[in-house]
Amino acid sequence: MHLRKRVLVTGGSGFLGSHLCERLLQEDCEVICVDNFFTSSKQNIEHLLPNPRFEVIRHDITFPLYVEVDEIYNLACPASPIHYQFDPVQTIKTCVHGAINMLGLAKRLRIPIFQASTSEVYGDPEVHPQPESYWGNVNPIGYRSCYDEGKRCAESLFFAYQRQHGLAVKVGRIFNTYGPRMHPNDGRVVSNFIMQAIQGKPITVYGDGSQTRAFCYVDDLIELMIRFMRNDHNFCGPLNMGNPNDFTILELAQKIIKLTGSRSHISFEPLPNDDPSQRKPDIAIAYSKYKWEPQTQLNEGLLQTLNYFNKFI
Ligand code: NAD
Ligand code: UDP
Ligand code: UDP
Repeated sequence: MHLRKRVLVTGGSGFLGSHLCERLLQEDCEVICVDNFFTSSKQNIEHLLPNPRFEVIRHDITFPLYVEVDEIYNLACPASPIHYQFDPVQTIKTCVHGAINMLGLAKRLRIPIFQASTSEVYGDPEVHPQPESYWGNVNPIGYRSCYDEGKRCAESLFFAYQRQHGLAVKVGRIFNTYGPRMHPNDGRVVSNFIMQAIQGKPITVYGDGSQTRAFCYVDDLIELMIRFMRNDHNFCGPLNMGNPNDFTILELAQKIIKLTGSRSHISFEPLPNDDPSQRKPDIAIAYSKYKWEPQTQLNEGLLQTLNYFNKFI
């Protein structure tokens, strides 16, 4: 018998997962972190290990998992383009087999389950900004499809389990998020630009840098994740989770050069395959349901991230 809420976080050692574990521990939950350390290191959760309410299991979610918990956050999945394209078959297995196993676990225990979906389900969107009602524009056989279609299949599975088995599912579509504990070499734009700037290396802008993105600071995202999970189990989503303040990638490069006082110059490199030209969440639902809107300004969030990355040089 246990009285405290026991929460399972898959991918708990990753960038977002480690912040979520930390937040849940602050709220007096017991946390079971499941991770196979494919794209993260234990360093992200090292500071949590002494906490007796924190437990780590090295496990790949493509295999069944039997534990007794009260809720599940399913975050396990390589998330940056270079990581998810490194072993596309494993990415699909994690998205699909992993989701089936975690849904099976939620079904056996009759507990709520959150799925970390992604703005990539919108592909290269023709509607801007993207509301949850937009069905997307995804290349089903392209280099990004292991992730995009994997996550779309996972969404389909979550809604199938909800309709067929009455599960309380929560599907959150996460847009670009940044902050401390991003992997310094994961190739994502914020980590790349900051590492390049502080090392005096060229800032690699892909294409002409006119593509746009909107970036959410990690603390804001975790706050919404928790509000979404805890309130109104009849609302399954999908829910856009992100910051609607968008700008071009070239503007981001210039901002980071200025913020770091770096002497790096900008080097224009080829645009990766199927790189979306624009992306920005419509967050009307998050606002109306949870009165949520991002609190952290870009400058402030970038400074926090910069402080973190300074440790690596
Ligand atoms: P991350 O790579 O830092 O974390 C993912 C974690 O999952 C890692 O610790 C990795 O080792 C683990 N993992 C991967 N495959 C696994 C498997 N089969 N079994 C167990 N563990 C496994 O990435 P992140 O940025 O923290 O992303 C977390 C989740 O949020 C992912 O599902 C990702 O798709 C989603 N997401 C993130 C963003 C973002 O901007 N960070 C945007 C959209 C969606
Ligand atoms: N599963 C799991 N942990 C559990 C319950 C189920 O990992 O506590 C896995 C199980 O291996 C199964 C999957 O979840 O393959 C889907 O479970 P479900 O009950 O939906 O399907 P079934 O067992 O009928 O195939
Ligand atoms: N990008 C870039 N230089 C880099 C890394 C990324 O110009 O060193 C661009 C990339 O082409 C994309 C945007 O920045 O247009 C965001 O890339 P990221 O990989 O962070 O995430 P995505 O939104 O593509 O999933």
